[in-house]
Amino acid sequence: MQMTTQVQPDDIVFVINPNSGHALNPRALNALCHAACDQAGRTAHVVTTRTPQDATETARRAHDSGAAAIFGCGGDGTLSSILQGLPVGSPTALGAVPLGTANVWAYETNLPMTPMAAIASQLAALDGDRGSPLWIDTGKVWSTRPDGSIASQRFLLMASWGLDAAAVNGIAASNRRSRIKRMLGEPAYFLSAVQEAVGQKAWSIAYSLDGAEPQTVDVGLMTIGNTRMLGTWLEVNPNATVVDGELDLLMFRGAPWRALALSPFARHGWLPHGPGVSNHRFRRLEMSPIGEAPPMQIDGEIGPSTAYAIDIEAQALKVLCPVPTSEVLGG
Ligand SMILES: [Mg+2]
Repeated sequence: MQMTTQVQPDDIVFVINPNSGHALNPRALNALCHAACDQAGRTAHVVTTRTPQDATETARRAHDSGAAAIFGCGGDGTLSSILQGLPVGSPTALGAVPLGTANVWAYETNLPMTPMAAIASQLAALDGDRGSPLWIDTGKVWSTRPDGSIASQRFLLMASWGLDAAAVNGIAASNRRSRIKRMLGEPAYFLSAVQEAVGQKAWSIAYSLDGAEPQTVDVGLMTIGNTRMLGTWLEVNPNATVVDGELDLLMFRGAPWRALALSPFARHGWLPHGPGVSNHRFRRLEMSPIGEAPPMQIDGEIGPSTAYAIDIEAQALKVLCPVPTSEVLGG
């Protein structure tokens, strides 16, 4: 995964995840990245990675070299791996070439879905020709490692506890469900959620928002959104924005099947709020499970079962937004 030439300030780095949902031939994608940068008068460096850690390390080096942007060629998991290598406030912008299963970030930001157009539009935003770079919030999940030390992980889109995470876990743990994911794409998560909801009781947790008195609830699903969407189907936080310095919590009380039954209402942001469904804005959430810890996901990947807090990092990440933000992320 070595970069063949030294990255210079203002260069563009591309991370290709060859295992992403709609991976192109890496050689063809490499040529395409170079062609798009040539057109924009930029120098491209393309790295094909084997593991998420490779992507994180590449991002760290891109930042150290002063790269103008680093593009993840893959899905939201690839973007997440890159995000872990960028320090808060890094001048290196995050870009996306949507080639994953769901591509939620690309959906949220109205990116063109073809690689060449996606790169060209974000490079135009980088130069301020059309759209502009935008500083957005990121979330940070705190957890404990088995040895008791503290770990943290940043997120771009969303973290959640409960049914949605159980569906992600279920796909990772089952060859059959993984095959279905490769065949069907995003609907595989819904099918996995149906299987996980059968007979599953609510998880009891104690949580506190911004230092307030802890509350105890039984939940089937708790989403913590930086952005609006859970996948590209469910608009669970229609009023969330990535520039307000707060995260949006949505809680479905009761057993997971209740969350599943209500999920179609979130298709266009029509979720009825009431005693069973509530939302809150916060800067820091602390939580501790009472009994069995609910499963967790972070940006679509399995998260730590020992997570105990989530913070907002306000305006911590530079992204490339080809469309004015008010039209896409509520900014
Ligand atoms: Mg927000």
